[in-house]
Amino acid sequence: DLDTISEKAASKGGSGDDGGSRILVFVRLRPISRKEREAGARCCVKIVDGRDVYLTEFATENDYLRLKRLRGRHFTFDASFPDTATQLDVYSTTTAELVEAVLQGRNGSVFCYGATGAGKTYTMLGTIENPGVMVLAIKDLFSKIRQRSFDGNHVVHLSYLEVYNETVRDLLSPGRPLVLREDKQGIVAAGLTQYRAYSTDEVMALLQQGNLNRTTEPTRCNETSSRSHAILQVVIEYRVKDSSNNILNRVGKLSLIDLAGSERALATDQRTLRSLEGANINKSLLALSSCINALVEGKKHIPYRNSKLTQLLKDSLGGACNTVMIANISPSNLSFGETQNTLHWADRAKEIRTKAYDAHEEMQIPDSETDQAKLVLELQKENR
Ligand code: ADP
Ligand code: MG
Repeated sequence: DLDTISEKAASKGGSGDDGGSRILVFVRLRPISRKEREAGARCCVKIVDGRDVYLTEFATENDYLRLKRLRGRHFTFDASFPDTATQLDVYSTTTAELVEAVLQGRNGSVFCYGATGAGKTYTMLGTIENPGVMVLAIKDLFSKIRQRSFDGNHVVHLSYLEVYNETVRDLLSPGRPLVLREDKQGIVAAGLTQYRAYSTDEVMALLQQGNLNRTTEPTRCNETSSRSHAILQVVIEYRVKDSSNNILNRVGKLSLIDLAGSERALATDQRTLRSLEGANINKSLLALSSCINALVEGKKHIPYRNSKLTQLLKDSLGGACNTVMIANISPSNLSFGETQNTLHWADRAKEIRTKAYDAHEEMQIPDSETDQAKLVLELQKENR
């Protein structure tokens, strides 16, 4: 039986509404590892007030005021998670809202960004005991669907794929590389498995198996390549009735992305990006940086076409989508440079919001003008 959610309620924050992209940027510090400790590493990162990140290398730890004046030593984000943060803390602050929005037809994406070993896969996939954002998002999704007794109306499909060396592979059904095609719905990977999910129980096993199918470094077997991007796409389809009782199909898509290691691929300006283009650097990661730069600069043309990753994310990045970046960092002073680069990149990504907000304001003007015109017509009718 079809839910009689009014079209109005469904389109609140849904596809095709007021629009304007929104990006939230978070930082997650992981605990120092045994290996780092054994190598004599010291902690060089301090998280203060759940937002501020201080890099304390070669500086007194508690001298925050002085660090604030040093370039590249102090950053502030929508939230910053200390090494004691739980998977649930991270999920509920970063992604829970996006799950809610996706249930209303608004696309969203969550990226984990950072150097190899910084905690991206832990954050996204996690372990059996401590499942990460991917698993918690699906769990939350099903519980929200049940709560509202939307059952039978909402259909959930999962796809899990990898981009490695500009080759797209199906992680749920390994085999030949997939070809990207453009159709009415946007860019799709032809033949990609769309696993219909009914509950959370099967999901962790499915994703863990999928993760084992990720490309491993040829030289170091069993170790997932740091150049592999894993993308989980959760597609929710449902039907709503509009005011004249027409049945409309709606789709919301949430993309959860465990990016390749960001080492050697960090660039926040176009010139550096171009000079890296020729080198043997992860093309998809560079293309993602270019898209983010274009979004930051408020460009009309966003170069999604430049890589497989950005093509796949075309409908989930920018535009009316919710975007979340989680920058993962290690606390070790031995990773100081990488950590600083990651924080710079994340700091830059933050700027997209301001631009999107401006565009949003501009769009409001003609809208309210037509609303006003409508109101005037209605009043004229009433006065007749
Ligand atoms: P990446 O995917 O960025 O290369 P991983 O997620 O594999 O890094 O993390 C590297 C190691 O650190 C793994 O052994 C992982 O279990 C551990 N780790 C990462 N983040 C955390 C965390 N928040 N709490 C506990 N262990 C973590
Ligand atoms: Mg990883």
